[in-house]
Amino acid sequence: MKAIAIDGPAGAGKSTIARKVAKELGFIYVDTGALYRTVALAVVRQPFEADETAKVVDLLQEIKVELKFVDEEQRVFLNGEDVTDEIRSPEVSMCASVVSAIPQVRSFLFQLQQDIAAKNDVIMDGRDIGTVVLPNADLKIFLTATAEDRAKRRYDQLLESGTVVDFQKLLEEIKQRDYNDSNREISPLKQAEDAILVDTSGNTLEESVSLLLELIKRHIGL
Ligand code: C5P
Repeated sequence: MKAIAIDGPAGAGKSTIARKVAKELGFIYVDTGALYRTVALAVVRQPFEADETAKVVDLLQEIKVELKFVDEEQRVFLNGEDVTDEIRSPEVSMCASVVSAIPQVRSFLFQLQQDIAAKNDVIMDGRDIGTVVLPNADLKIFLTATAEDRAKRRYDQLLESGTVVDFQKLLEEIKQRDYNDSNREISPLKQAEDAILVDTSGNTLEESVSLLLELIKRHIGL
């Protein structure tokens, strides 16, 4: 099996780029952020707050997170309910960033991620794929862009799905999430030593996709 790890901060275009690259290669695209978001959604639905760690940890006993691939597209399920669309709200984004700093949440999702990579050729995107989940990946890419560029991308994405949000607020949230993700004690967002840095600022989607395909072909000879 082949595995390509793509890590980087929120909104660097990882998911859009990786999805297209995976299709070209015939790999499965795994968006691990969706798993953290699913746990976050379960928390958002509770009367307690995300920073009440003991309660979040207790809740893990009651939740089942599953990934399924329908027409090659990943869908996530929370206790059997398809929550793929619901997990995209800004509220769930912020909550995911908080609960993902809890070690028990990370270990809860760890095996699921490893199992998928053991059975499929994957492009897996996240924050700690190259450093923790798939340290032996055939290729590791750290994909980034400026915070402004990333906020603009999320803004456009949300707009496309009919959600109007305040740009400045989105930018602040992106910066806050960067801070949370990079400064947590467990599995912080950081470039693996053997990862290749790709900055997508100012690139079109097509440019980024062909850049990555070239890199992949060069490094793992597909
Ligand atoms: O990638 P996405 O923005 O959907 O991820 C949501 C949140 O999940 C991130 O802000 C991060 O805190 C967390 N996450 C993580 N490790 C991963 C993927 C996502 O901690 N591998």
